Amino acid sequence: MIYLDNAATTKMSTSAIEAMIPYMEQTYGNPSSLHRIGQEANEALTNARERIARLLGCEAREITFTSGGSEADNQAIVSAAYLGTKKGKKHIISTAFEHHAVLHTLNKLEKEGFEITLLDVHENGLILPEQVADAIREDTALVTIMYANNEIGTIQPIAEIGQICHEKGVLFHTDAVQAAGHIEIDVKEQNIDMLSLSAHKFHGPKGVGVLYAKKGILLTNLIEGGAQERGKRAGTENIPAIMSMADALEEACAQIPAHTKKLTALRDKLIDGLLKIPHAVLNGDATHRLPNNVNLCFEGIEGESLLLLLDHKGICASSGSACTSGSLDPSHVLLAIGRPHEIAHGSLRLSLSAYNTEEEIDKAIAAVTEVVAYLRSISPVWRDLENGKLEHVI
Ligand SMILES: *Cc1c(COP(=O)(O)O)cnc(C)c1O
Repeated sequence: MIYLDNAATTKMSTSAIEAMIPYMEQTYGNPSSLHRIGQEANEALTNARERIARLLGCEAREITFTSGGSEADNQAIVSAAYLGTKKGKKHIISTAFEHHAVLHTLNKLEKEGFEITLLDVHENGLILPEQVADAIREDTALVTIMYANNEIGTIQPIAEIGQICHEKGVLFHTDAVQAAGHIEIDVKEQNIDMLSLSAHKFHGPKGVGVLYAKKGILLTNLIEGGAQERGKRAGTENIPAIMSMADALEEACAQIPAHTKKLTALRDKLIDGLLKIPHAVLNGDATHRLPNNVNLCFEGIEGESLLLLLDHKGICASSGSACTSGSLDPSHVLLAIGRPHEIAHGSLRLSLSAYNTEEEIDKAIAAVTEVVAYLRSISPVWRDLENGKLEHVI
């Protein structure tokens, strides 16, 4: 199999797997226990927190371990919203192309009486800092904008957006789940107040993530119980996964320069190869883009059939977000950048990792080219496009 679905999840690195084992076999104590084996687990927890804080440019006490990116997004947004309420602020700014963990949390808050502004996205998938400046009001409690998009890979000007928020006294959260391990993150330099991470997107384990919240920001509990995580997130800490996440993040960050070089070359080869297919278009900006993301629309194609036939040829791909595949609604991200419904249906996301090889990219180009040609040959819509009954949009 050729795995090109790394935006959905990644294969664990060998060292991230090895980093878990001692905390399952030997140091399996509960960090809240007073005996030695518990205290050793507690020391490991402190160690992981310090290492992750160092990688993000913050203090250890500003790190909260969560069950993943979704929980971190939920807790960040709910906390900022409730802090706003105390000051009479009930307005939140975000974008239409956020992950559902953000959008669905905002929907919930809207029902509770918050007012949500979703900024318009340009066709290239970028938000301008001026748009944020124009949207901020006296009663704005939070701006939440993702660092890099999980479907089209566009990278937002996070430091500039954060600076505007700080000048206006508004909290700034970013979902950095796709950015972590691909882009250098420094929360202080980049003016970030809150940030979400998920280990399984950078070759760590599933079910573990990080919420960074600048000191002084009072978090609201989503889970009540014991006093773990300074009383802000109850439940016995998942030490094996947390140790593995620290290892995976260190490994990924150390390799950013080398992997960016390798992945950008593979990505651009893949994009160039696929754009040779007639009536195909790249989604998202060509340069402000994650080094591992390729996303195209093919006219006259149904995304689901494309994925099934590619799977048959040994290629793991996606039509966009893993959360929407399985439903027939086109991607909300592609609709947000203005792709018409019928085009958005024909999307393909290929997301790479450093485990991919040039040979795999060549095979993927050949397979997609062949499958798109086959699907068009049996498509009544394509026949109408070709004989002029329908007009080509791309
Ligand atoms: C995967 C992803 C999430 C969700 O993370 P989980 O750890 O799977 O809950 C949130 N935001 C983005 C941008 C993602 O890609």
